Amino acid sequence: CGIVGYIGSKPPVPIIIEGLRRLEYRGYDSAGIAVAGGPVQENGSSLVLRRAPGKLKNLEAVIAERPIEGTFGIGHTRWATHGRPTEENAHPHRDGTGTLVVVHNGIVENYLSLKSALITKGHKFVSETDTEIIAHLIQDELELASLMPHAHEATEEANESIAVLGDSTKPSLSLEEAVRRAVKRVTGAFAIGVLSAHEPDKLVAARMGPPAVIGIGEGEFFLASDVPGILHHTRNIHFLQDGEVAVLTKSGVTISDFEGGALPLKVVRIAWDP
Ligand code: GLU
Repeated sequence: CGIVGYIGSKPPVPIIIEGLRRLEYRGYDSAGIAVAGGPVQENGSSLVLRRAPGKLKNLEAVIAERPIEGTFGIGHTRWATHGRPTEENAHPHRDGTGTLVVVHNGIVENYLSLKSALITKGHKFVSETDTEIIAHLIQDELELASLMPHAHEATEEANESIAVLGDSTKPSLSLEEAVRRAVKRVTGAFAIGVLSAHEPDKLVAARMGPPAVIGIGEGEFFLASDVPGILHHTRNIHFLQDGEVAVLTKSGVTISDFEGGALPLKVVRIAWDP
């Protein structure tokens, strides 16, 4: 229901929590946050996640008890459509490697067929949500790309790349390209925010249906499901359009379509106050 993402030089956690608070009027049943770029965890990745059912103060209590650190992150307040409002069903949702997360507003209509196809491929799901499928679809695209030899390469090299996949950490496809390929497999409505510990200081967003906005600050960039979540940081907003993908890094924002074609960043100056 509410999405807030941050990338810049400030600690992301307080900015994301405050942004989610300013979106509380939209209503929600649970909340969560993921940050990366901080200390490496036991699983070898810097991604850390905290989630809680109920109000934002429950999430804040969880974070106070087990603090998290990172250089960029995304948060979400959920209005459940698929799966009960539990901690496991709260966003962000991880892929099977636990290094990539997705927050999502909307509904994946073809989630049952996508889910059974992914299960056949060996994917294991830990929530009842439709959103978790998007994380696994992105993982699937990353894995397909690292298995796929270039057309001119010989078969032995293909076998070699299969062998390497198990312990490789750096996917061969960019996160944004994996997101583009994944969202093309989804029917339904979505505004999503994605981050991967393998691609530090990058947020990827995509939209088809529910609103999403990008905030352009001074050396810092924001993602939100609506203007009031970030307006106290910047009044310069790009309204993400249906069929657009945004890539936010510390040095700027680029917009493209689902085929990867470049689109203009159209910054609007917001004069009103929420
Ligand atoms: N369909 C998703 C879920 O149930 C997203 C809900 C939302 O828009 O907050 O988790």
